[in-house]
Amino acid sequence: MKLAFSLFGLFLAVQAGAASLPAGLRLIETSPALAKAVALRFPGEVRVLTENVILVPAALVPEISQVSHETTGHCGGFMDITDETGHKTSVRVTEALPSLGSKQPWIAELIDDVRAPNVRDFVGAYSGNFKTRLASSPEGASAPEWLRNAWENMARKAGRDDIKVETVPGPDGYAQKSVRITIPGADPELPVVVLGGHLDSINRRGSKVAPGADDDASGIAALTETFRVLLSSQARPKRTIEIFGYAAEELGLLGSRVIAQHYQATGRKVRAVLQLDMVAYPSEAHAVTFITDNVDRELTQWTEQLYGLYVGGDVKEDRCGYGCSDHASWTRYGYPSVMPFESPMGEMNHRIHTERDTWDELLDADHAAKFVKLAVAFAAQLSGE
Ligand SMILES: [Zn+2]
Repeated sequence: MKLAFSLFGLFLAVQAGAASLPAGLRLIETSPALAKAVALRFPGEVRVLTENVILVPAALVPEISQVSHETTGHCGGFMDITDETGHKTSVRVTEALPSLGSKQPWIAELIDDVRAPNVRDFVGAYSGNFKTRLASSPEGASAPEWLRNAWENMARKAGRDDIKVETVPGPDGYAQKSVRITIPGADPELPVVVLGGHLDSINRRGSKVAPGADDDASGIAALTETFRVLLSSQARPKRTIEIFGYAAEELGLLGSRVIAQHYQATGRKVRAVLQLDMVAYPSEAHAVTFITDNVDRELTQWTEQLYGLYVGGDVKEDRCGYGCSDHASWTRYGYPSVMPFESPMGEMNHRIHTERDTWDELLDADHAAKFVKLAVAFAAQLSGE
């Protein structure tokens, strides 16, 4: 009891930025159910501080996703909040979302340019180039450089010297960085539009082979095709568009949180954030499924409407559980985010986080292309007015 109490005091001090944890321990926030399950799995090693915050030896962090798979059937579902400071100060942008009347011809034209096979080809190239993209591995450290080069070459080929492609700091203690594309808007004072997916991968059984084709090379490939289409339009957006490949999502949404935290601390205004994490496995439903927790409700409804207008087809909604992907980092720091997902959670791709997450007949480029079309419409509509 005393131990728990003093650890709780330490937790509050860490949260307030007044103390740091002993080396080798990580502070993990998750759902009460997963916190309990992890504590039961590793008795004596895991301390439960509050019903949804646990203190875990760093070496056990990758095990949390395994426990999550087994107990909740969900992916991810936790945030590493060890190095977090100052969250939950709302910086919500109050700008109204544009009303969606009828299709704008210039956006419809951009969408016509989306090519589904490009998504499959990019997944093959990216996931095939690394045995794993685990944030703590040497290969994981080189994945961002590969991605930065690929995106930079696209910008240069299109003759767009105004577009910046760069690596940005990842989480402390990991060599893996995040990657950011900046397509500058005509008015740099306006809030920016953010699209993103995570560039890392993981094998939950500890194997060094983690192709992560669906999770999340598919999201990165969808963003790449979105970028190509936006490049092909010579129109300059009114607002800046940023496209991210986030580091270390699989270790607790680490890379995206460093970014959201930095944006909040420096007063950066963000109009809306779209997260693409797993977009190629259609399941039986073949429906784009909008996640309803850790997102902005109004932005989600608006994006569903946008999808109906420009893409069309079945749409579902589902809860993900706690903090399933990088959208939760943005939400945590007060920015409005939305996450369309490849399937209802109950039908999700069960080969993720294994050696078998490769591109084969279970993955579908046409399904992934729906997300590219949505991302193109999202970026164009929100940056253009
Ligand atoms: Zn993922």
